[in-house]
Amino acid sequence: MRTQVGIIGAGPAGLTLSRLLHQNGIESVIVENRSRAYIEQRVRAGVLEQGSMDLFNSLGIGERMMREGMQHHGIELRFSETSHRIDFTQLTGKSIIIYGQQEMVKDLVAAHLQEARPLLFEASDVSLDRIDSPTPVINFQYQGQAQQLQCDYIAGCDGFHGISRQLMPAAQVYEHKFPFGWLGILAEVAPSSHELIYASHDRGFALHSMRSPKLVRNYLQCALDEDINNWSDDRIWNELQQRMALTDGFRLNEGRIIEKSVTSMRSFVVETMQHGNLFLAGDAAHIVPPTGAKGMNLALRDVVVLAKVLLDRYQSNNNSGLRQYSILCSRHVWKAQYFSVWMTSLLHRLDAQDDFQRKLQLTQLRAITESVAGSTAMAEGYVGL
Ligand SMILES: Cc1cc2nc3c(=O)[nH]c(=O)nc-3n(C[C@H](O)[C@H](O)[C@H](O)COP(=O)(O)OP(=O)(O)OC[C@H]3O[C@@H](n4cnc5c(N)ncnc54)[C@H](O)[C@@H]3O)c2cc1C
Repeated sequence: MRTQVGIIGAGPAGLTLSRLLHQNGIESVIVENRSRAYIEQRVRAGVLEQGSMDLFNSLGIGERMMREGMQHHGIELRFSETSHRIDFTQLTGKSIIIYGQQEMVKDLVAAHLQEARPLLFEASDVSLDRIDSPTPVINFQYQGQAQQLQCDYIAGCDGFHGISRQLMPAAQVYEHKFPFGWLGILAEVAPSSHELIYASHDRGFALHSMRSPKLVRNYLQCALDEDINNWSDDRIWNELQQRMALTDGFRLNEGRIIEKSVTSMRSFVVETMQHGNLFLAGDAAHIVPPTGAKGMNLALRDVVVLAKVLLDRYQSNNNSGLRQYSILCSRHVWKAQYFSVWMTSLLHRLDAQDDFQRKLQLTQLRAITESVAGSTAMAEGYVGL
């Protein structure tokens, strides 16, 4: 087999890159080690920045997103039992849309297969070879047979646990681990608010978000080594109610919890994102803490840059963009990293014993919500300006 761009991974990054390339007449083959059913059910991100929303519309796959997604014009911040709205549209002219990552993946896969473009699910033993030569290859087993895919370029879009990043020689890694985690639930109940609620409480952070008019995703800041078995449904709802409380007696809608998990929070960036003819994009190259809802949006920014420099190479025989790919991405990667860490530090209880730090945090929250400049800075970061 031979193609122009071999893509490892059918997550948001790999699928979107393939579509961007296809729109510009560049061939690609996606090699994915999971099944179609698995990647289409994997519940993860749900917030799309205005730029991501515009991208999907421009790729001709935004119809269901615009119909079923929930467009939000702001978020609510809660602290000291009071509520403060950050109005994105008033402050920036932009908005966000809530549309599950798995729904976006379904739309991308459907469009890909409808156009009969190669997307190989359940490939095993995937490995890369000759990446610093003009003819890099992807080796894998597919339907019981050993395969070799020869490429001009390889895009490593295989997520944080993939194989591509391991091939970056002398990579510089920047990492920060947070001393707490998130206990997340998916519950069958109508959202309690039209917009996401971010609550900073003396007991810890809480987030109320939604995936559909009947499905909510709520999170609680918890210990890093929290044992999920110690959290009955009643205990979870009780803790959420306390952290979300307002003086007017607000109550979150409660419903059947269908999924519970604890995840750690970390920041991770690898530089460089390229070696020879291998280019990393998305979670393969960086992870952000989820507070700023940036992970998937960041993956999409990378592939927009990668598609552009590949297009320059194929249409104008101009390699300079390809050589600069990692540098071109660095600015948006660190900007997203900065915003995500800032939101995390602002809203979480960093040290339960440190009341001085907590007083400063509340003062900063007041400064943001009482000032147009402060609110605008948060709104710009959130919508992805
Ligand atoms: C539990 C969880 C919750 C999250 N919640 C949020 C959120 O609320 N908001 C937010 O913005 N972000 C969130 N994220 C982050 C967001 O989901 C990611 O940033 C996004 O999925 C990145 O897309 P990607 O395509 O780079 O990587 P992925 O989505 O990880 O896709 C990588 C693909 O590569 C495949 N693959 C891996 N290894 C191989 C291999 N060896 N060979 C072939 N294929 C391979 C994988 O199966 C996968 O399909 C969450 C992540 C997790 C794990």
